Amino acid sequence: MTTSFDAELDRPSEECGVIGISTPGDDAARSAFFGLYALQHRGQEAAGIAASDGQVVRLHRDQGLVSQVFEAGNLDPLKGGMAIGHTRYSTTGANSERNVQPYVVETLHGPLGVAHNGNLVNTDQLRSTLLERGAGLQSSSDSEVIALMLAASEGTTWEDRLATVMPQWQGAFSLVLICATKVIAARDPWGFRPLSMGRLASGGHVVASETGALQTLGCDQIREIEPGEIVVLQGQVARSHRAVEPKEKQARCTFEHIYFSRPDAVWDGLSVHQARQRLGEELAREHPVDADVVIPVPDSSMPAAIGYAAVSGITYNEGFVKNRYIGRTFIEPTDELRRQGVKLKFNMLKENIAGKRVVVIDDSIVRGTTSGPLVRMVREAGASEVHVRITCPPIAHPCFFGVDMGSYDELIAHQLGVPEISDHIGADSLGFLSVDRMMKALGRDDGYCNACFTGSYPIPVQLSLATTKQRFDGVLG
Ligand code: SF4
Repeated sequence: MTTSFDAELDRPSEECGVIGISTPGDDAARSAFFGLYALQHRGQEAAGIAASDGQVVRLHRDQGLVSQVFEAGNLDPLKGGMAIGHTRYSTTGANSERNVQPYVVETLHGPLGVAHNGNLVNTDQLRSTLLERGAGLQSSSDSEVIALMLAASEGTTWEDRLATVMPQWQGAFSLVLICATKVIAARDPWGFRPLSMGRLASGGHVVASETGALQTLGCDQIREIEPGEIVVLQGQVARSHRAVEPKEKQARCTFEHIYFSRPDAVWDGLSVHQARQRLGEELAREHPVDADVVIPVPDSSMPAAIGYAAVSGITYNEGFVKNRYIGRTFIEPTDELRRQGVKLKFNMLKENIAGKRVVVIDDSIVRGTTSGPLVRMVREAGASEVHVRITCPPIAHPCFFGVDMGSYDELIAHQLGVPEISDHIGADSLGFLSVDRMMKALGRDDGYCNACFTGSYPIPVQLSLATTKQRFDGVLG
């Protein structure tokens, strides 16, 4: 079993990135590769592409970064004008190789490939029903359940079968399918995970988890796929179907704006970069402090630190220099390097910090394992005071919709109050943005899931599953 090491230790871990392409010519897999490259930040454990030439669906997938999994030798055989791709985050585990997506099955109706982002909350029940009907399940992935349900469903086309089974799926899914002759995309009726579509200059269309991937491929006419919508891509044509009515109370994942999405993404009509800047502005209003310099924990907190500095009047500067090239490696660090933890990821610009009262802007505290070492590094660089400000509320509840937040017993905000967390990380003060201020920064009253902050889940969930032992029963897509 291969394990990997990621020095970015205490972040919510998602997610997955999906892409689907129908384009004239033979190069859909190559375009999918570059699209996945732009989605690499959403999952660094594994990647895969399934392509169809109109008759045969061919697949290559493996563990590793997109650039490690694919080379000309295994990309060239993926011929055809249709492709889907996936880049995956998950915990490493005994079954992880079998859980790499896309998942491809032969069915009575021909080959079917599935890749998805998100997590169904009723998978256990769906798996039991499949097992009772005699289906053999090989992995713990929701994608396999989705594929087998589709294969057994009634309907004359894959989009018919999808529309038939979609109402049975409770939870988060942004989904791409490939069969011999078309690519199909769908989004759950709550709208948890992003999924957008754009038009290629050459004709044809692309769907992708983030608009940045569409821009990378030169798309225009970019729009969000609506919650509950199915889009069928065939040749140069894109057809939209309403499979399920959007839920009255939608549940977009707030963490896409706080941390997951690239800053160049546009989601729910909001620029992620601008949303983060406004989160920083609200943070400055809610938790002001006398200080000399504002520094972000790069990269995702940079826009928020700019916003905090603009409202507070405190100078913005860089304090941490991130080694942007380390990414995730499958080479284990030496014990000495592992002990250094976040120091492997960041170096300090002492000249910007020494003798100063410093405000550190970060996007989240999950388990509380990284903030302490970061505060220590700022002090060792000579700061006279270290004030930590977080651009979201305390994460006190686990996520059941595809984000690895940790379980109740791991979440520091479930165990400790804000003053105790401040002591724990060694800060002079600590402030979290409130839910109200966060939503004000996004300019939205509702339509978002905030369950990891409030414990109010948009779909009933089995809280008993949120223990350390049972947390990874399923594989997040
Ligand atoms: S619980 Fe938190 S991380 Fe999970 S979908 Fe809701 S907002 Fe996103």
